[in-house]
Amino acid sequence: MARSYPEWQQLATELEIEGRAFIAGEYSAAQDGRSFACINPANGQTLAQIAWCGQREVDTAVQAARQAFESGEWSALAPLARGRILKRFAALIRECSDELSLLETLDVGKPIADTQSVDVAGAAYCVEWFAEAIDKIGGEVAPVDPKLVGLVTREAIGVVAAVVPWNFPILMASWKFGPALAAGNAVIVKPSEKSPLTAIRLAALAKEAGIPDGIFQVLPGAGDTGKMLALHMDVDCIAFTGSTAVGKLIAADAAASNLKRTWLELGGKSPNIILPDCPDIKKAARTAAAAIFYNMGEMCTAGSRVLVHRDIKDSFLAAFKEAAQGWQPGDPLNPDTAMGAIVDRIQYDKVLSYVDKGLNEGATLICGGKATHLEQGLFIEPTAFDCARADLTICREEIFGPVLSVITFDTVEEAIRIANDSEYGLAAAVWTSDLSTAHKVSRALRAGTVWVNCYDEGGDMNFPFGGFKQSGNGRDKSLHAMEKYSELKSTLIKLG
Ligand code: NAD
Repeated sequence: MARSYPEWQQLATELEIEGRAFIAGEYSAAQDGRSFACINPANGQTLAQIAWCGQREVDTAVQAARQAFESGEWSALAPLARGRILKRFAALIRECSDELSLLETLDVGKPIADTQSVDVAGAAYCVEWFAEAIDKIGGEVAPVDPKLVGLVTREAIGVVAAVVPWNFPILMASWKFGPALAAGNAVIVKPSEKSPLTAIRLAALAKEAGIPDGIFQVLPGAGDTGKMLALHMDVDCIAFTGSTAVGKLIAADAAASNLKRTWLELGGKSPNIILPDCPDIKKAARTAAAAIFYNMGEMCTAGSRVLVHRDIKDSFLAAFKEAAQGWQPGDPLNPDTAMGAIVDRIQYDKVLSYVDKGLNEGATLICGGKATHLEQGLFIEPTAFDCARADLTICREEIFGPVLSVITFDTVEEAIRIANDSEYGLAAAVWTSDLSTAHKVSRALRAGTVWVNCYDEGGDMNFPFGGFKQSGNGRDKSLHAMEKYSELKSTLIKLG
């Protein structure tokens, strides 16, 4: 049953928050006592002190992961048995949905309606999906010389470190540990220092579900903790979601240490192209608003560049302004709130600095542009700029906040050129009534996901998700994600 605003407020006061690391099946503080404060961005209050893991915790966790992996108690389980345990894990995530949603909302300022329906529900679904998949995929018998039998099989890699961001903490973590655990690996999750709470809580649920000690561990900490994992000689694979800048550091650290398998899901500056034969301008405008204001714009796939044809620009902008009104920030604990708080002061200052850059470089405000303070929280109005040129800073750099850049074009070719003129290639969209145009433009767009006449559709697990160019390599979601967490082995048997 849906909870009311006062009920969520009451539950928030009763919440017990765990802030310790989870290593070898137990919660423990950092040995040197280091910790950092976890702050609610909607009101500035400290929620908990969190263990800041250092080299000792990293080494202990990697050793526990190695032992657990090599014992075979997880990796050598029959896939059906591993799947059953993972399904129990998914069921426990669902049972604890209120608690996990509340932790996520308080930690990062996301609206409670979203943390319940998208983040926590999505994490449970992800774990369940991979649990159900693992006893349905097999290897190959290669068509080799008849005197041989050639088997192609997949084996777990070993110790996988998952270093994840703060914008969808539980969901992005699950997109890594779901397939990695399903494939039989031991996983160490390093949540962002801005959003450690749900990962820490998940660890106890994993244990309750029956995942052996050492197979699922959580090391909270900042970038230094992530770096220790990236450099560790006994970590076999690092799966990262975060900024392109840090992705490059991780790739360099992996290369400088043991060439661990490195998978990077990075930033974006995704174009949303509105062609003159757009089937429904009002719908396109409403969708464009959601594409940039959902999750406070803290979205790797945010439709942060709208490219609109000159002939329909005025009607599009009128409808967009109206739609933006529905995204005024409010208390994340109110189930009616559509847009919550910006995750922390650093990100808040960064977003506002981009608003200043937009104004200084001559962009015209369409709406918003200001901070709003509800009880000293970090809130920013839904903001959009009309940009005379596509090379303004706000048209090129990832802002990761509720700030849209609108660029006008005259021909489809020009729109494609502007859309692809980016170091990123995560997602893109095109709105048209013509089937051939839809196919041609989709093919021309250099992006890992292209939406036609929609945006951000496809919450299901069946589609691979990831980027072209500097938006990363490898794919989360779908069976392709399991490829990242396994090695291919060819076995050739000579017949007597
Ligand atoms: P970030 O790169 O600052 O941090 C991500 C994680 O890396 C955090 O856990 C952080 O502690 C850790 N880290 C920082 N420095 C490190 C280092 N030197 N070595 C190892 N780990 C280190 O990113 P963020 O601010 O948390 O997240 C926002 C970014 O994530 C945006 O660029 C966004 O586009 C991207 N993102 C991408 C996807 C995707 O699937 N492509 C999804 C969500 C977010």
